[in-house]
Amino acid sequence: MALIVQKYGGTSVGSIERITAVAEKLIATRAQGHNLVVVVSAMSGETNRLVALAKSLADPPKAREFDVLLATGEQVSMSLLCMALEARGCPARSYTGAQVHILTDSAHTKARILEIDDQHIHADLAQGRVVVVAGFQGIDAKRNITTLGRGGSDTTGVALAVALKADECQIYTDVDGVYTTDPRIVPEARRLDKLCFEEMLEMASLGSKVLQIRAVEFASKYNVPLRVLSSIEDGPGTLIAKEDETMEKALISGIAFNRDEAKLTLLGVPDKPGIAYQILGHIAELNIEVDMIIQNIGADGSTDFTFTVHRNDYKKALEVLNKLATELGVREIQGDEHIAKISLVGVGMRSHAGIASTMFKALAHYGINILMISTSEIKISVVVHEDFLELGVRALHTAFNLKEK
Ligand code: ADP
Ligand code: ASP
Ligand code: MG
Repeated sequence: MALIVQKYGGTSVGSIERITAVAEKLIATRAQGHNLVVVVSAMSGETNRLVALAKSLADPPKAREFDVLLATGEQVSMSLLCMALEARGCPARSYTGAQVHILTDSAHTKARILEIDDQHIHADLAQGRVVVVAGFQGIDAKRNITTLGRGGSDTTGVALAVALKADECQIYTDVDGVYTTDPRIVPEARRLDKLCFEEMLEMASLGSKVLQIRAVEFASKYNVPLRVLSSIEDGPGTLIAKEDETMEKALISGIAFNRDEAKLTLLGVPDKPGIAYQILGHIAELNIEVDMIIQNIGADGSTDFTFTVHRNDYKKALEVLNKLATELGVREIQGDEHIAKISLVGVGMRSHAGIASTMFKALAHYGINILMISTSEIKISVVVHEDFLELGVRALHTAFNLKEK
């Protein structure tokens, strides 16, 4: 008998028909003798609806109340799923994050899980119940409701698998695995059989929203293999696990992209020690995360400094830079909210040269201008105008022949 944690995303519980189908699937798995802990997301579209409601009253809304509101979406789907299970004779119990004491820090809307009390869950399992837990939420030490950031139900699933020492953690979604790139952009994208944590971490952090980054971090830290599967059709899905010899060392495992960034440039910055600290220190004080940073070599005692931030933080960052311009002695500040980042990811890149030039050649062939470049051992990212995002992703998918294994 295995203990399996399964997470079902928004589309998978998006209607009464889908919830019924999930209930039937759970009953079939249970009939094979397995213990089941199920994590559910809000019904598809619900979290966005709640965000819009809040923002119609205040933008940004008060973080504490925002989390109280957002956490309700998952409470709807968890109870409906239990009703569907009970109606079919399967004993089940639902719990909010607070009820199973998913203790988090107090960083509203992006809280981190610190601890889970697994006693309730074990007691229910021992009595033959399916346990359904609301994803995406927890409670802080002062009993405030917190949420874990968009896509956070994945992290609830992995954290529960770790806490319960589950045999498997399965993430059910609306695609049948992790693909070489988002199949909605490139229809001939190929499903990957296996990926190592490192690759999935890069893909997720570079924009592939199929799994939340923190879920992959957690899984990697505690070495819990994840399987991404379709909730609609049966299939092997994609296994995400520790890198081993049996894994194909793909040169490029996938292409990730991100439309959520914006770039800021300071022209004519005095070329002297401490300037990067002065600029980015002020940005960090506002709790704004910086992604790429480029500083040109100095000429005539001045230099240019460019960095990217999340698009949501763009206005705030631009405002503070404009205020600082005189103090810093900057000639001009430019901003661009219409950028996108495309990244090639693959552990095989470590030992191969020439990937960057193939990448740049393919983009040049379609007249796509590269605005910024950044590389690491296992990824190359470029920033382009957002209008060229889809074309760029398709061009690279073809250039590296990713549809063939
Ligand atoms: P859920 O609601 O189940 O959590 P998400 O919408 O968060 O589902 O994630 C699944 C979606 O991720 C897919 O529908 C797909 O469009 C997108 N996606 C982005 N990149 C990839 C990729 N490389 N492989 C598979 N899906 C991807
Ligand atoms: N419902 C939340 C969201 O839409 C969490 C999740 O689905 O993972 O982001
Ligand atoms: Mg998701």
